[in-house]
Amino acid sequence: MTSPSSSESSASFEGATSFEGAFDTAVVGRWAAPGRVNLIGEHTDYNDGFVLPLAIDRDTTITVGVRDDRLLRVASSFEAGVHEISLDDLDTTQMSGWSAYVFGIAWALQQKLGAQGTDAQGSDSQELTTAAGLDIWVDSDVPVGAGLSSSAAIECAVAVALTDLWHLDVTRPFLASVGQLAENDAVGAPTGIMDQSASLLGRADSAVFLDCRSLDAEVIDLGFSAASLELLVIDTRVEHAHATGGYVDRRVSCERGAREMGVSSLRDLDVDDLPRAAEVLDDETFRRVRHILTENRRVLDTVRTLREKGPGAIGALLDASHASMRDDFEISVPELDLAVATAQATGAVGARMTGGGFGGSAIALVPTTARDAVTAAVLAAFAAAGYREPTVFAVHAADGARRV
Ligand code: ADP
Ligand code: MG
Repeated sequence: MTSPSSSESSASFEGATSFEGAFDTAVVGRWAAPGRVNLIGEHTDYNDGFVLPLAIDRDTTITVGVRDDRLLRVASSFEAGVHEISLDDLDTTQMSGWSAYVFGIAWALQQKLGAQGTDAQGSDSQELTTAAGLDIWVDSDVPVGAGLSSSAAIECAVAVALTDLWHLDVTRPFLASVGQLAENDAVGAPTGIMDQSASLLGRADSAVFLDCRSLDAEVIDLGFSAASLELLVIDTRVEHAHATGGYVDRRVSCERGAREMGVSSLRDLDVDDLPRAAEVLDDETFRRVRHILTENRRVLDTVRTLREKGPGAIGALLDASHASMRDDFEISVPELDLAVATAQATGAVGARMTGGGFGGSAIALVPTTARDAVTAAVLAAFAAAGYREPTVFAVHAADGARRV
């Protein structure tokens, strides 16, 4: 983190556990953005498909002070050190580590809004070229690396804060694309737009039904509380890394499948195309493609089932989604399979791994009355298998990013 424009200084940070401990400026406001869980629709986002995430009642909160120069300075309870960069010198090659999530948002806003301060919709009043620098303290109760998108939470908290402080006239879907650009180009993780959309557009007791091709988003009533259902997150504490390994490999498989099927994206295919895919594709690519096509179908079926029959009827779709990720897409791990199987066997309506895979969390939709029994059974099963103790907690669908 040492470079001419992005540097770390520990002097002012020693022992800092708050904004006041790290910075000298006066606080002008606080903004919060939630993590998310994806109810269903996994790895479909970068295939132009459908996803159904919900914002959760776990937030990243940023506290901001306005500076009289053009520096952005950031510190977090997550890791010691103050990082800084000049607004006149925002360059992704100077960004690394966690501060890239923050600086990347400022950079992506500049990229998308342009030097003239005009966005794609032609709105103006942007003040990017003269905006004041900021001191930003980051605090979070979104577990990091658990598949609950602490990354989108930090990006979206910063995005809504900069929008307010710099008087930008932009929409939330636009901010989601800003978050994605920051994560792709400043952080270097080739992720889709789902996480930011959930964090920005989420509503209490609702999910966000997102078409990742048109970017149309619709808030869908979940009705969990009325049905006395709760969503349990089982964080296996098996770490995953988005920028490397299996995630990238699965993207490549999907691109190959689309190319060999003669379409620009797997969204152009439906489950009816599976017999032809079985003839055209090698076995592994076929199974990757089958997961995407059936998962898109399951998202649509989940939305319809929620509307017509309510949340108690979506369990089989969640279970089928997990089986597809385990067997066809091969992104589960034994800890996730055990969490899901145990929840299913002890009264869950349905359960599946959630997030990119290779670790992270599973979700289980459980009757409130079965919550303690499912939790105890999962803990006991992990202990018996000799796995690290998982963290099990309930989440509730919550409102998206906001000023606090
Ligand atoms: P996930 O989004 O599933 O939690 P990611 O690997 O996508 O996992 O993002 C986690 C990274 O985001 C962390 O390693 C860190 O760089 C950054 N991050 C998340 N929350 C914070 C925070 N509160 N303070 C600083 N950095 C954070
Ligand atoms: Mg993430």
